[in-house]
Amino acid sequence: MTAKEHIKTYNLFINGKWVPSSSGETFDVINPANGTVVAKVAKGTKEDVNQAVNVAHDAFENDEWREMSPNERAKILTEIAQNIAKNGQELVLLEALTSGGTVRRVGGSDIVMIVDLFQQMAKFVKEYPFSETLPMPIVSGPAHNFVWREPLGVCAAITAWNMPLLLATWKIAPALATGNTIVIKPASNTPVSTLKLAEIISEVVPPGVINVVPGSGSDVGETLVTHPKVEKVGFTGSTEVGRRIMTMAAGTIKNVTLELGGKSPNILLEDADLDIAIPGSLLGVFLHSGQLCESGTRLFVPSSIYDEVIERLVALTKTLKLGNQLDLATSIGPVISQQQKDTILSYIETGKAEGARLVCGGKEAEVEGCENGFFIEPTIFADVTNDMKIAQEEIFGPVLSVIRYNTVEEAVEMANDTIYGLASGVWTRDVNKAYDIARKIKAGVVWINDWHMLRNDAPFGGYKQSGIGREMGKYSLDAYTQLKHVHTSMVPEVEERRSLGVLFPGK
Ligand code: NAP
Ligand code: MG
Repeated sequence: MTAKEHIKTYNLFINGKWVPSSSGETFDVINPANGTVVAKVAKGTKEDVNQAVNVAHDAFENDEWREMSPNERAKILTEIAQNIAKNGQELVLLEALTSGGTVRRVGGSDIVMIVDLFQQMAKFVKEYPFSETLPMPIVSGPAHNFVWREPLGVCAAITAWNMPLLLATWKIAPALATGNTIVIKPASNTPVSTLKLAEIISEVVPPGVINVVPGSGSDVGETLVTHPKVEKVGFTGSTEVGRRIMTMAAGTIKNVTLELGGKSPNILLEDADLDIAIPGSLLGVFLHSGQLCESGTRLFVPSSIYDEVIERLVALTKTLKLGNQLDLATSIGPVISQQQKDTILSYIETGKAEGARLVCGGKEAEVEGCENGFFIEPTIFADVTNDMKIAQEEIFGPVLSVIRYNTVEEAVEMANDTIYGLASGVWTRDVNKAYDIARKIKAGVVWINDWHMLRNDAPFGGYKQSGIGREMGKYSLDAYTQLKHVHTSMVPEVEERRSLGVLFPGK
């Protein structure tokens, strides 16, 4: 058998079944560590999207799914968590192989977080106020008033390639917890782990509740975003595409949640414990080769310790091991594609041209055994000013910009001088100073003496052009429900009905 014959073909996942694309076309998925094709995937079309949305719509109209009690739903979410854990190894392998995320991270953290997310959702759904009772009304006479939280209907999820499983589950878990159905369009670089996840989840939910249609953003993505039967779009990706999605969703007044880009500021104070702040800041920027939306890409350092910090950052960065993401000893894997590699290298050239001082890395890296892979040396620029392109635009690669400051006020002002507002961080031994800065920073999360500390019970999302709405936690359930007010009059006699007097003054 040749290596080619081992390559698995994945079909679309619609209505609980694997189905080929209506066009019969497939596209290749590659391993970014060596550029080889690892899977072929059916390329969805507009017709396929229509079919998926129709079955999702039928599944939503099924009362058994929509009207399921929170206890029943909690049981299903718990079973999903168990099924994911059972299939954890395969999911980790598919995720790492195609996204370039290290097995160290995907196996040690992502999969644990995903199982925990469904377990926590089971708890949130039992506590969620699906029905609230209001106090007696002031004017109309006695009445009973409910506020119900109801599912939206068919939800579309469109995800990025950097951590496809986490991004998908942040949408799937709250959507299913509240009785919606979902059609997912994964990123074209990384569809297979999401397809496998859907198969695993479909074992415990009715057919049509979860569907996956891989295919291009302009075709499958836009069809979903403009489809009249889709009520909501949950999107994770670039700010540029997010802007377009918001515009397109306006045509049918869809709900949107947007998780977009970032250029997150990391402020080191003079009194920081550098033994923690230096490795912590490097974790903040170099995890997954800097391809995380919350990466801490702008490091603000006081002039008094600037040279020492640069020296220590560079020394520690040089110890990081680049390698095959499937090797447990690897700290940093490849970037996702040749195209991404070219974009990052061109930003590095821009940094040099803008007058920033390259102190570490700056070129593609050779990794033994991964000759055709897409590797970039972890790169540090010193003497960056906040107005440079490398300090303002999201590079989505392993590039740190270190910016000098003289006063904390100046650091905070520069930290906020960006179109983004996703994550941020402060390193200090003085907790009062940290809280003061935390209040002034315009970002969805502030990590004090830490980075990347996402939690399944905390909200995650952006200020400003980093997005709209929040994912994760009980907060995400609000984004997948709508409110209905139900009023029942308790006034038995017609003459006591004050509201009727508005139209019938004589009564
Ligand atoms: P992207 O180019 O915006 O693509 C994201 C998704 O949108 C992909 O599935 C893509 O499909 C699809 N898409 C592209 N054009 C579309 C269109 N016209 N209509 C509908 N869908 C369309 O982003 P990316 O390059 O994959 O990911 C990197 C970006 O994601 C970064 O900016 C990063 O900051 C952001 N991100 C944000 C978060 C967060 O939580 N805030 C998390 C992770 C990543 P194709 O793959 O087929 O092009
Ligand atoms: Mg893209």
